[in-house]
Amino acid sequence: MPRPILATIHLPALQHNLQRCRRAGGSARVWAVLKANAYGHGIERVFDALRAADGLALLDLGEAERLRALGWRGPILLLEGAFEPRDLETCSRLQLWHVVHRSEQIDWLAAHKCETPQRVFLKMNSGMNRLGLRPEAFRAAYTRLSHLPQVEEISLMTHFSDADGQRAGQMGVQHQLEAFVRASHDLPGERSLCNSAALLRHGLALRLGSGPEAQPLAADWTRPGIALYGSSPDFPTHSAAHWALEPAMTLASQLIAVQELAAGETVGYGSTYTAPGAMRIGIVACGYADGYPRHAPGHNAHGGPVLVRGVRTRLVGRVSMDMLAVDLGPVEAQLGPCHAGDEVTLWGRSRCGALLPIDEVAHAAGTLGYELMCALAARVPVAVEPLP
Ligand SMILES: *Cc1c(COP(=O)(O)O)cnc(C)c1O
Repeated sequence: MPRPILATIHLPALQHNLQRCRRAGGSARVWAVLKANAYGHGIERVFDALRAADGLALLDLGEAERLRALGWRGPILLLEGAFEPRDLETCSRLQLWHVVHRSEQIDWLAAHKCETPQRVFLKMNSGMNRLGLRPEAFRAAYTRLSHLPQVEEISLMTHFSDADGQRAGQMGVQHQLEAFVRASHDLPGERSLCNSAALLRHGLALRLGSGPEAQPLAADWTRPGIALYGSSPDFPTHSAAHWALEPAMTLASQLIAVQELAAGETVGYGSTYTAPGAMRIGIVACGYADGYPRHAPGHNAHGGPVLVRGVRTRLVGRVSMDMLAVDLGPVEAQLGPCHAGDEVTLWGRSRCGALLPIDEVAHAAGTLGYELMCALAARVPVAVEPLP
């Protein structure tokens, strides 16, 4: 028998979350963000659920190739644009739309020989200081692009650094929204600003400008990523349940041993957990080599959350490469003795339907749902829950 660990990708949840994001943007079209191999879920696996999006966004040309191989004929947007001039040939061959975020990319376009002109998203650095042209250079870049025969249509975009919270006592998007509108309000073209956090928190409530005809923040295209996969973009302020998002990934395993501890005995490497009294612990076939976070706490009474047979309990001791240990006390108090072979849910949905949000596991370990999904290890077998 193979090791009893399994990740399950829930296509009905992905489909639900996409609809949820679509509603949050009103009439905006949706770029489903599938970068990083669909946030660790697998592009080929999620495709059937996310093909209802208006476009698919990612940044690796190899991943764009995989989408075309799956038969996707709709728009694909390269979020980091071309990395070198010959990437534009791939854009022409695969009909990719691409982000222009620095002036060299305009030089490459000007030198590019293509039969059909390309669609570009000109990106403004409105304050995140990662990618994009500064507001004062934006208009000149726009004008240059608009004179190129290689360019069919220019859309405008920017990306928020603090959409999940506040900044200097204001909504986190405020300063960048103002910078974007100030520098671009009179330029023609479609607009795209919102990641998951901006979309769910402000998509229809905030506007690009003040007039009655001003567009909502969701604008023409939204760009949700994490929300599609059922993780809350602003946890712990709001949970996935608050946003009506469903977990798209379950990581499940089993107990492979049960140990009886006497008071004063310790658990695992470094003996970081000491039993305060007699207790039973379960050993789970899941460790950091499966993508479980090694920094999840297990040294005190507030260990990271785990479900055993659908009942919530906690880690004890350090997570090791292939195993971790859990307190069986709360489980046995409810359901009676546990045995090797019993179901363990590391995150997602247990067989009985109990939920353990990936955000809670991540938070306990000092990280984000994003990182845990993307870190699911290649050695973990993956099943797919199909669409109905
Ligand atoms: C990753 C990414 C997104 C999606 O962000 P989420 O926080 O996952 O919703 C949107 N836009 C750009 C430019 C990105 O790089």
